[in-house]
Parts: sequence; structure tokens; C-alpha cells
Amino acid sequence: MEIIETEAKEIYTKTSLPGADWVINQYVGCGHACEYCYARFMSRWKKHGTWGTWVEAKMNAPELVKGKFVEGIVFMSSVSDAYQPIEGELRLTRRILENMDKRIRLSILTKSDLVLRDIDVLKEFKDVEIGFTVNSFVGTEKELFEPGSVMAGERIEAMKQLKENGLKTYAFVGPIVPGLIDVSDIIGKTKKHADHYWFEVMNLRGAGKEFSEMLKGRYPESYRILNDETALSEYIKGIESIIKDEGIKASKVLRH
Ligand code: SF4
Repeated sequence: MEIIETEAKEIYTKTSLPGADWVINQYVGCGHACEYCYARFMSRWKKHGTWGTWVEAKMNAPELVKGKFVEGIVFMSSVSDAYQPIEGELRLTRRILENMDKRIRLSILTKSDLVLRDIDVLKEFKDVEIGFTVNSFVGTEKELFEPGSVMAGERIEAMKQLKENGLKTYAFVGPIVPGLIDVSDIIGKTKKHADHYWFEVMNLRGAGKEFSEMLKGRYPESYRILNDETALSEYIKGIESIIKDEGIKASKVLRH
């Protein structure tokens, strides 16, 4: 992993992402190296090499949040994972949380149980929620889609521990790939630990040509459904029906 140390001028950036007003990206690039990552496009103009092999770390980010308050929800992070492996060493996220105005409404989405390290400081916030991307990729699919992150079971266990510590949590169920994701099973495993849910169907355009081609070759039926408007609408109706039957609090199923 190549670490490129940088200095930023600002750390809060306005966003149009659903459920957020600001984003904070102390890292650009991600060691989790998900093959479908929608932020892979950054590699095109960052010129550091293949996605997943480099991380830009904004070393002054903990200083930039000091004494600064923003209205609205701050989402951490949109082009990286705040708890990717390098965070264990650099502790940028930890130091940002320590320095941040605790009145800020914060939402963190991660695929890592490293967030458990920061329970103490997270508890100081008035309004914070921690989300975990949860899916059911195992074996070959885990290797092909999400080679660098911990298994979903470990994320669910971390969610459970945060909940037991009185913190608000959510499950981001995605990317939903027809035939490879068991939504009912995921809800069953997370229901006790998640306050609410987001569901997102795989965005093939965002995932890029290479990923699309791989999916087409290895999982042709999943690929077909994702590319067939009628079949996909039917599939999403099925998810909506499961959500309704389970009686969980969830936003509209995201699709692109
Ligand atoms: S964890 Fe998120 S930011 Fe990191 S590679 Fe995976 S999808 Fe991209």
C-alpha cells in the first residue's frame, strides 16, 4: 500500500448524496479495494496506480476540524473508508473525531470493525450514527468483489457491540446483486442491531466496465436482471415486499 501524505485547505465539502449535507474525506483511496467501488474513477486522474494500492492521507485533517461547526448531516466518507486498514496506524479518523465539534450531526459508513476502537469518543457526540455495509458475499464472490475488507459477520458483530454501547446504528445493504444477495437473511441477522436500513442495488455504470464484464461472464443471470428494466423492477418489488413484511425502518431502495 502506497501512502501519499497531503495537506488539505478545507475538510468539510458540500454534497448532494442522499441523507447528507456535507462529506468529510480524510482519506482518498481505499485499501479495502472493492472491485465495484464507485470511487474507482478517482484512479483515472489521481495517477497513483490501481485502485486499492494507494491512499492519499490528508495529514492536517484533524487540525482542520478544530473549532469548526457545520449545520446539517456530515457523512464520513464518500471516496474512502474512514476505518480502512491504514487507519490502524495513522489514526487520522480517531484524531478528527477527538477534535470535532461534538454538536455536529455525524454519519459514518464503514466495512470495518476497527470502528470499535473509537466507541469512547463516538459516545461524546450528541447525534452520531454508524452504518455498516452488509451483504452476503462469501468465498469466491468475497474474493472477487470485496477482497480487502472483513467478512459481513464481523461487521454485524461490530454493529451489535456499538448498539450495546448505546450508539445508533444502521445497515447499508448493498451492493445488491440479484441471485448473490439474500436480503431476507441479512435482515434476519441484523434486525436486532440496526436502527434503520438503506438498500442499494448494484450500480453497474458506477462499478465500471471491467467489473461489468466480469459479472457478465461469471454471473450472467445477475447481469441480465441488472440490465433488464422489467426484470429489475420486479426484483426490486420483491425486496420492497420483504422490507414491508419485516416491518423495518428503511429508505426507498436505491437504484441508478
Ligand atoms: S470500502 Fe468503500 S471506498 Fe473502500 S474500496 Fe470498498 S466501496 Fe470503495
